[in-house]
Amino acid sequence: MGGGILGLAVARELIQRNPRASVCVLEREQRVASHQSGHSSGVIHAGIYYQPGSMKAQLCVQGARELYAYCAARQIPHERCGKVILATSQRELARLAELERRGTSNGVAGLRRVAGSELARIEPHASALAGLYSPDTGIVDFAAVARSYANDVAQAGGTIATGWGVSSVRRGARTLRLLRDGEAIEARHAIFCAGAWADRLAVADGAGADPRIVPFRGAYLRLRPERRDLVRALIYPVPDPSLPFLGTHLSRRIDGEVLIGPTALLAGARDAYSLATVRRADMLDTLAWPGTWRMLRRFWRTGATELHQAASRAVLVRAAARYVPALRREDVQAGPAGVRAQALTRDGRLLDDFMFSLSERALHVRNAPSPGATAALAIARHVADQARTLFDLPA
Ligand SMILES: Cc1cc2nc3c(=O)[nH]c(=O)nc-3n(C[C@H](O)[C@H](O)[C@H](O)COP(=O)(O)OP(=O)(O)OC[C@H]3O[C@@H](n4cnc5c(N)ncnc54)[C@H](O)[C@@H]3O)c2cc1C
Repeated sequence: MGGGILGLAVARELIQRNPRASVCVLEREQRVASHQSGHSSGVIHAGIYYQPGSMKAQLCVQGARELYAYCAARQIPHERCGKVILATSQRELARLAELERRGTSNGVAGLRRVAGSELARIEPHASALAGLYSPDTGIVDFAAVARSYANDVAQAGGTIATGWGVSSVRRGARTLRLLRDGEAIEARHAIFCAGAWADRLAVADGAGADPRIVPFRGAYLRLRPERRDLVRALIYPVPDPSLPFLGTHLSRRIDGEVLIGPTALLAGARDAYSLATVRRADMLDTLAWPGTWRMLRRFWRTGATELHQAASRAVLVRAAARYVPALRREDVQAGPAGVRAQALTRDGRLLDDFMFSLSERALHVRNAPSPGATAALAIARHVADQARTLFDLPA
């Protein structure tokens, strides 16, 4: 369930392993990749940031490798353009060293320190005390990748049912009934990859409410076409290690656009692509969750900065100009926005790692934020392995 990049990758993996199985993807929207998978930065992450040994570290490194091979085989436009993570203060230099340690320990290839003339060769307009260069980071259109996974499912005999929103789940003796107004689909087993709605579907299937999904809206600016030469590839800050977000970056997309962002602002709806979109049920879910208030108490200072950046184009440009000093307010236009599905525990922790939960007949992906799109093929293999054991499927 869920026609984002994860649901489609999982369906593809399952049908490839069990060609005679009846596999159907239910997607509420009229087209696949309508939510996170179609609103990302489009960066193929190499696996630098993540705690060694975490699922993110393992599945990102494997997933990126498989994704490059997949894109090459299917001729999906992509580019191994490389990325620099830049430190602009002494405090960030220490954090950069920790990122280098993590990346190396995670097996990220080619990672090296750059500064001065070498940094200038990689990103002529960037400025920093030092940078960490990852030649293996790249770019792709994840919506195109998701559509290709959907084609693979259909070609292998599976079904992609769009416009099919699951409103409730009933457990039977031998099946799960997935219902929408007056209609039901009966399944022996289900795998839920519902992104921003993951907690609701898990609760509908009888799981606990912890963690809840809180939506974080991420807005981007875009560079005017005549100023795109300010950024060759990908320029990232050193992230705040206490947050699961990577910070405002400057990133070239595969179509040549250069984006600046995203911001990270608690959103009024799980599909708040516009700031004006506010849904009562989504707001209530966020505000009634004890974890929200604990998180706000802990991160109020970061929240205030994010609010400032989201409210003022000049402030966001100033943040990006720390890394590209020639950047001016008149170089940017309004850009797209995405909504991150971030799991938040009852005690106020923003869950960093991927998280899955199991019920008798179903597996739920409860937290799959960035680098979820990069890691999708590896996550799909992990999920299919779990499903084989849990559901007693043929190997
Ligand atoms: C702003 C932003 C930038 C990002 N940048 C990157 C990046 O550069 N690199 C990277 O690797 N990752 C990035 N990510 C993360 C990445 O996009 C996600 O990890 C990934 O897309 C998750 O895929 P998904 O299939 O779980 O979720 P989604 O793509 O959100 O799909 C979930 C699907 O479930 C469907 N659904 C929900 N409820 C129901 C229901 N009741 N019935 C039927 N269908 C339902 C939804 O309609 C949706 O299509 C970014 C995310 C955001 C938001």
